Amino acid sequence: MTVKAYGATAGDQPLEPMTIERRQPGDTDVAIAIAYCGVCHSDLHTVRGEWGGTLFPCVPGHEIVGRVTAVGSRVTKFAVGDLVGVGCMVDSCQHCPSCADGLEQYCENGMTPTYNGATADAPGHTLGGYSQEIVVDDRFVLRITHPEEQLAAVAPLLCAGITTYSPLRHWKVGHGSKVGIVGIGGLGHMGVKIAHAMGAHVVAFTTSESKRADALALGADEVVNSREDREMQAHANSFDFILNTVAASHDLNAFVALLKRDGTMTLVGVPEHPHPSPDVGSLIFQRRSIAGSLIGGIAETQEMLDFCAGHNVVADIEMIRMDEIDQAYDRMQRSDVKYRFVIDSATLAG
Ligand code: NAP
Ligand code: ZN
Repeated sequence: MTVKAYGATAGDQPLEPMTIERRQPGDTDVAIAIAYCGVCHSDLHTVRGEWGGTLFPCVPGHEIVGRVTAVGSRVTKFAVGDLVGVGCMVDSCQHCPSCADGLEQYCENGMTPTYNGATADAPGHTLGGYSQEIVVDDRFVLRITHPEEQLAAVAPLLCAGITTYSPLRHWKVGHGSKVGIVGIGGLGHMGVKIAHAMGAHVVAFTTSESKRADALALGADEVVNSREDREMQAHANSFDFILNTVAASHDLNAFVALLKRDGTMTLVGVPEHPHPSPDVGSLIFQRRSIAGSLIGGIAETQEMLDFCAGHNVVADIEMIRMDEIDQAYDRMQRSDVKYRFVIDSATLAG
């Protein structure tokens, strides 16, 4: 079937309306009418070719929510009319050790991302959620249990939510932990909300003085302007865990120095240009770690959605029309989003 979409034909071109093909649902497929799609900084990195390897035409979008319109004959978990979500992956090998552990994001044969991944479908690479409909294998479809009125604000959970939830869980954040969240954008604001809901003492690190009051309202116990050395030094050697979501190259040492002995800073931001190499001495002398983390597995994504529904956690969003996407990217590039843009997919029809 042919559906309307928005995408780019080259890294230096604005996004434009296009029509794309979706496969007819197979036996295990779920067809979804997309209601909303969140705008992740990864969409911008990919569309503008900042990471290299972008396949054009590129239709981004991996924070997808909507309603099931058809299911294949072997689908038992979903029915027409259900509210569902799709995140950053639409397939994986299902038999490697990572897939067997429910960690499809680390599939050793390469998971298929929701956009810019190899597929048998036209045009040979996956096309994401800046579109009216998507067809996805049922194993990669998530159930949404939030009230329907919150649907638009649930969309960002599919990437920003799971990318922060998974490392917070993996490094056992909870009551009694002191946690730093660096960069209060789409991922960071979800990190603050989720770490707060997990019971941690949360310190938000921002370079934007204008986000100070907001960060407290999001659930931070303290806010630090990371450009102010005195404010930074007041937290030296005190963190169990720091989650760094910054989308640009920056000095990591200033944050490593805030970790306790045995503390970890996990990086989830994927900047266009590498960070300067961190100081090895600062790691060695306090047995500190720098780690990385990629989204989360499907089972864990469902767990995150249910956790957020139970704690009434959703994203703070600015709704946009599809044709406002380029201005939204420019604002996101300037750290000027409070705190996630979400596309109203109905505006694709016009
Ligand atoms: P975003 O909404 O643009 O937020 C990034 C935040 O980083 C900004 O709001 C800003 O926060 C801070 N920042 C930006 N430039 C900075 C600079 N030069 N120096 C210091 N701080 C700066 O982006 P996002 O959607 O949250 O994504 C963040 C990064 O994570 C991107 O690189 C994205 O590709 C990546 N990502 C990774 C995964 C994964 O699985 N690992 C998943 C999704 C996204 P303040 O204004 O508070 O300083
Ligand atoms: Zn994302």
